[in-house]
Amino acid sequence: MTELLTTEEYKKIAEQLTPQSMSFINGGFCPSSNGETIPVINPATGELITNIAACTKEDVDFAVKSARDAFESGCWSKMHPAERKAVLLKFTRLIEQHGDELAVLECIDSGKPIVDCVTIDIPEVVNTIAWHAELIDKIYDQTAPVGSGAVAMVVREPVGVVGAVLPWNFPILMLAWKIAPSLAAGCSVVLKPAAQTSLTAIRVAELAAEAGVPAGVFNVVTGSGSVVGEAIGRHMDVDMVTFTGSTATGRRFLNYSADSNIKEVVLELGGKNPCVVLDDAEDLDTVAEQVVAAAFWNMGENCSAGSRLIVQEGIKAELLEKIIQHAKEWKTGDPLDPSNQLGALVDKGHFDKVTKYFDIAKQDGHRLIYGGESVDGCYVLPTIYDDVKNSDRLAQEEIFGPILSVITVSSFDEAMAVANDTEYGLAASVFTANAKKSLRAAQALRAGTVTVNCFGEGDISTPFGGYKQSGFGGRDNSIHAHDQFTQLKTIWLDLA
Ligand code: NAP
Ligand code: MG
Repeated sequence: MTELLTTEEYKKIAEQLTPQSMSFINGGFCPSSNGETIPVINPATGELITNIAACTKEDVDFAVKSARDAFESGCWSKMHPAERKAVLLKFTRLIEQHGDELAVLECIDSGKPIVDCVTIDIPEVVNTIAWHAELIDKIYDQTAPVGSGAVAMVVREPVGVVGAVLPWNFPILMLAWKIAPSLAAGCSVVLKPAAQTSLTAIRVAELAAEAGVPAGVFNVVTGSGSVVGEAIGRHMDVDMVTFTGSTATGRRFLNYSADSNIKEVVLELGGKNPCVVLDDAEDLDTVAEQVVAAAFWNMGENCSAGSRLIVQEGIKAELLEKIIQHAKEWKTGDPLDPSNQLGALVDKGHFDKVTKYFDIAKQDGHRLIYGGESVDGCYVLPTIYDDVKNSDRLAQEEIFGPILSVITVSSFDEAMAVANDTEYGLAASVFTANAKKSLRAAQALRAGTVTVNCFGEGDISTPFGGYKQSGFGGRDNSIHAHDQFTQLKTIWLDLA
């Protein structure tokens, strides 16, 4: 377990940080070609941290050319697997050594609580990169059963130049989910972090270079989605895009691909995930704890947040009472104070979007049973509404804030129908003591991850991604993620 420092110690680290604000392209720092910048604000204090480069299409061209040249040179793509593994493992050690610095940088940039940055995000980044690095020299290709007159090999090759476009909710962790399997596979990467949360990505690129990742193999191009993101999506020399973000933007990447070079596209998108609690669920106190974590962890800025509680009427009253008790344990406040489990929302624009749902809930006649308050500094307190119908806006729209909607059902079949009545299908959980029902639910729920008697997202060894409009084209994590950064080649040798 990682040891936590005090608020004062984290504040001191924050004061001493000198975040790099330029992009990292071809092994060095680059300003934007037109000199423009974007202000980076700490959402908890409103203070300006720095101004990052607002890169241009020309900067993307330069990064893609650097990535292509590096790929073609073979300096990384053809490096011996054991050597590539050694470089990536050195990279993880550097991230660990700079763990507190990266955690504080992430915290002030995004508003996420330091306790999560230190105990979840940074260790998971290290674990993700190490897991994919360890895979490199343990996977074998295949030969096909083509008879004795020939030998047919089915080999994996790195897909080439990968564009990665990231969201702001788990900035450094989503970066790891993208770069670990793609770099392990031998690809070169051009990565655009979200404009609000680019600082850890730039620092990580610098550490990768220090670990021995060759120039041009891992580039970070900062800037806006409409300029840098679109230029990556439409680039004729990017072989694949891996994107995590909203469904609306994901849809654009499919169009960019269709309009350009039919690049591969993998999309990890939004969610409106159901937590189903059946009448026979055992240990309601633990269930309540899990429901609260599902709804409020990371301020609800979580694609797999359990934002719809679908509860069978027999246990509803008792469960809600326990949920409210547990919600009270989640302290909101200064993200640099390790006793706060909840920090600030990512920026004022998002804060305004989330708090608008307080008005929508009022208009639609939902019953506020907990919270419903916001505080200056982009803080929204955990909030629960009862008497929500699944067709209401609160139950259909991804709010991406700490707002839980309670929907009451009377039967198992109704619970499944309501849970699936959404355009999304990322994650779902079901709480029941009945083994048959738990498996029937796991089969019935149309979601990429179904957890039983807990809230969770699996781990690095399990694929993560969405059904329906929650995803497209592949999965993050696990060997499946590694495979999607490779393509298959058939090599046929005639022996006659
Ligand atoms: P977003 O608005 O879609 O932005 C994601 C990225 O796309 C940002 O880097 C953004 O750039 C860029 N972008 C915006 N407009 C673009 C355009 N026209 N062309 C190309 N790129 C463009 O999503 P977000 O608000 O950052 O992230 C929250 C969303 O991510 C939620 O829907 C959440 O569910 C989803 N998410 C999904 C997963 C998963 O694994 N399924 C994980 C985490 C988050 P700028 O914002 O910098 O301009
Ligand atoms: Mg910020």
